[in-house]
Amino acid sequence: MSLEILEKTDHNLKFIVEGISIEMANAIRRIIISEMPVMAVDEVIILKNDSPLYDEIIAHRLSMIPLTTDLNVYKLPRDCECGGYGCPLCQVSLTCEVTNTSNHPMEIYSGDLNSNDPQIIPVNPNIPLVKIDKNDKVIIEAYAVLGLAKDHVKYQAISNILYRFYPQIDFDNSKCTKCPDKCIVSRMCPEKLYDFSNKKSPILIEDYWKTCTLCNSCENDCPEKAIKVGWKEKTYIFSIESDGVLPFDVIIKKTFEVFLEKIDEFIEKLEEVEIES
Ligand SMILES: [Zn+2]
Repeated sequence: MSLEILEKTDHNLKFIVEGISIEMANAIRRIIISEMPVMAVDEVIILKNDSPLYDEIIAHRLSMIPLTTDLNVYKLPRDCECGGYGCPLCQVSLTCEVTNTSNHPMEIYSGDLNSNDPQIIPVNPNIPLVKIDKNDKVIIEAYAVLGLAKDHVKYQAISNILYRFYPQIDFDNSKCTKCPDKCIVSRMCPEKLYDFSNKKSPILIEDYWKTCTLCNSCENDCPEKAIKVGWKEKTYIFSIESDGVLPFDVIIKKTFEVFLEKIDEFIEKLEEVEIES
């Protein structure tokens, strides 16, 4: 198995994986979507709420705020020695006390939450929470824990993940000399992957695989049947979009940890089963 990073920013990761089966590629996708432990608010105590929003709406909005997560310190409540009751190893408290002393309405943002752990804070401080009028007050105590997205979507580590086959196009432009149509393919390809600027013979651009969606329109449209669209065996291009709760290297490392745990669990369960011969 080999992995090549194509693009990496704080919120986007694109890489090529070679040498794995489609089942394995899908297992990676599914683990990243639903089995990655992530911090989110799970319990809210509203001590004062003068805002026009109901307590329940504020609690819901708090739970959907992406929080930076530290997997080296925190454990899932069910795996914690406290038995999930709530202790410094499985719970973070976030408090918010705001009084509007100005003469106009004011907005409370995610950045107004004070965390007892500086590593666990809202990813973005500018997420609006609620608006309050002059002299109004809001006092909130919220508790964040680690959780999995298969239990609730607020624990999702990524916003989007997809993989696609690595496109491989065989293009024989020697067949283009007899073509009466002035390269319909270069006009029809939705990704504009064929360069016909020389007006004689179309050229398939070098990095076509980066944007080709395997729509097959070139193969279907070419009157000379000069194009064959296929894909590279056991090679996939992954794209991941994250809101920044976990760095990508932690996500990838944790994915394989979870994968190996699942294999061990499967073997254990298999050994328990008595198979009649
Ligand atoms: Zn605990």
